[in-house]
Amino acid sequence: MEDIRNVVIMGSGCAGHTAALYTGRANLKPLVLEGHEPGGQLSLTTLVENFPGFPDGIQGPELIANMRYQAERFGAEYKLAQVSSVDLGSSPITMKVGHETIRTRTLIIASGASARWLGLPNEQALIGHGVSSCATCDGFFFSGKDISVIGGGDSAMEEALFLTRFASKVSLIHRRDDFRASKIMLDRAQKHDKIQFITNAVVEDVYDPSKKEVTALKLRDVRDGRVWDHPTSAMFLGIGHIPNTKAFTGQLDMDQDGYLKTTNYVFTKVPGVYACGDVQDRRYRQAITAAGSGCMAALEVEKFLENQGH
Ligand code: NAP
Repeated sequence: MEDIRNVVIMGSGCAGHTAALYTGRANLKPLVLEGHEPGGQLSLTTLVENFPGFPDGIQGPELIANMRYQAERFGAEYKLAQVSSVDLGSSPITMKVGHETIRTRTLIIASGASARWLGLPNEQALIGHGVSSCATCDGFFFSGKDISVIGGGDSAMEEALFLTRFASKVSLIHRRDDFRASKIMLDRAQKHDKIQFITNAVVEDVYDPSKKEVTALKLRDVRDGRVWDHPTSAMFLGIGHIPNTKAFTGQLDMDQDGYLKTTNYVFTKVPGVYACGDVQDRRYRQAITAAGSGCMAALEVEKFLENQGH
């Protein structure tokens, strides 16, 4: 008999692990496809202080590892693989994963969102040579150096604060003088004596690809057009994320930025296909809300399969 899965979960962040835990406990033997950023955003963060149940906070990678372990205890299977295409029109749903074809009755899309880059002329050439979107991964390499962080949201504040452990000075560069960051994070960054704020400035380019290291940023004041070079050893980006929804172009409804549109929290327009976590949430984007929506998607999968007589 053909092997048809009950449920496949795309993504292994908070939403994916939670969906795996619930569908695992429902005895549905979920298959989790981990994607190109296993563990999602939490695996790139440091101390998480706002996930209930951990009064002293917990490290992001530890929290995500716990979630995975918990889901595996209930039979969730994990596969480190990238989905190249999905046919939501076929029944069962067909997915191409490397050379393999996977068939499933239901699909939970928890593929999250990936870090956004600025699109500067020299940016790509310097990724891994001083340009980074992950302070926890790369901050250590710039001990005792001057580091720049771009952005005005919580990610930028978190990166800047984390990088003060290594840097002699952190320059927080933001294109406005108003911040999306929560007040508590902004206050912490503003009060930190190692963090200097440069506002109303955009980055026009990063130097120096010929030296294979970051030496300076070309900045422009958005108010008067003044352009200057800001010497620095690294540029960390904290400017938001792009949803991982390419495989669903033309198959599912998306907003103008590519986030999946859902109704009743997790329903897509295709029966048996649910979306949860950052891939469909541009408003809250918290670990706890992603976990919550992963739970909802899992409960809907259970109901769907039951109604289908499985
Ligand atoms: P965000 O809140 O969307 O902030 C992105 C920042 O990058 C904004 O300041 C934005 O500027 C700037 N930006 C975007 N594109 C840019 C460009 N091309 N050039 C220059 N600047 C650009 O994203 P986030 O900080 O990643 O946070 C996402 C969500 O995760 C939020 O809900 C946040 O609360 C949450 N989060 C929470 C924590 C925590 O609680 N510990 C940590 C990290 C993230 P404008 O403001 O001018 O648009």
